[in-house]
Amino acid sequence: DGKVEFRDVKFGYDERRPILKGVSFTVEPGKTTAIVGPSGAGKSTISRLLFRFYDVNEGAVLIDGKDLRSVKQHGVREALGIVPQDTVLFNDTVRYNIAYGRPDASEEEVTRAAKLAHIDDFIRSLPDGYETRVGERGLKLSGGEKQRVAIARTILKDPPILLFDEATSALDTATERDIQTSMREVSKGRTTLIIAHRLSTVVDADEIIVLRAGEIVERGTHADLLAEK
Ligand code: ADP
Ligand code: ADP
Repeated sequence: DGKVEFRDVKFGYDERRPILKGVSFTVEPGKTTAIVGPSGAGKSTISRLLFRFYDVNEGAVLIDGKDLRSVKQHGVREALGIVPQDTVLFNDTVRYNIAYGRPDASEEEVTRAAKLAHIDDFIRSLPDGYETRVGERGLKLSGGEKQRVAIARTILKDPPILLFDEATSALDTATERDIQTSMREVSKGRTTLIIAHRLSTVVDADEIIVLRAGEIVERGTHADLLAEK
């Protein structure tokens, strides 16, 4: 479960300016597809269509064979877990921030998610552990730590489909590599869509799609794409 399909998707925020000009790809359940391309290519637009913030003008977006137009937005969002570029944390405890999508989660579940995101040791080293407050009036987390909290939150929600939308774009190179290791681990067995700026950050994807000005200009594995150069 968790198959994602874009079928010849055409979309513009207004009629005069097409943004996606016929985009087709399929992410098979459990596989990872990366979408790379310059700023303005339409990468985030793909993520917004998948979340059904907008409907396509032509073509279709499907999850598990179901056209999103026939699914309630709530249902769509249940199936998706997103790690965005800039995670905004609530001014509350670390625990609250991790368990936000699953307030019913047990101690063990929260800890397991934190471990998977490699932030467990860090949390344990805090004065009050998971009960430490973060945000404006509490502890300030670094960009990498925030992304780890976001990954833990997403894993705890346990969605069949993961979406990393420029999740490492704001980080320095060393932290980016670290977070990518976690992304690789948590994406095992889940359908994963990674939106990124650079090809070098998505080496492991089963398929990489290069998007330029709303069109797919290249696709293949990392090795395929390098061989074409
Ligand atoms: P990317 O993620 O590849 O940088 P986006 O999908 O964010 O690209 O944007 C693609 C194009 O759509 C850009 O030219 C951008 O200006 C335009 N765009 C994005 N969001 C909106 C919006 N809400 N209304 C109008 N145009 C938009
Ligand atoms: P929920 O289960 O509460 O609907 P989601 O997992 O769908 O939460 O989303 C997690 C957070 O990411 C929410 O705060 C939501 O507003 C935000 N979000 C959802 N879609 C996007 C997106 N395409 N880009 C950036 N942030 C998003």
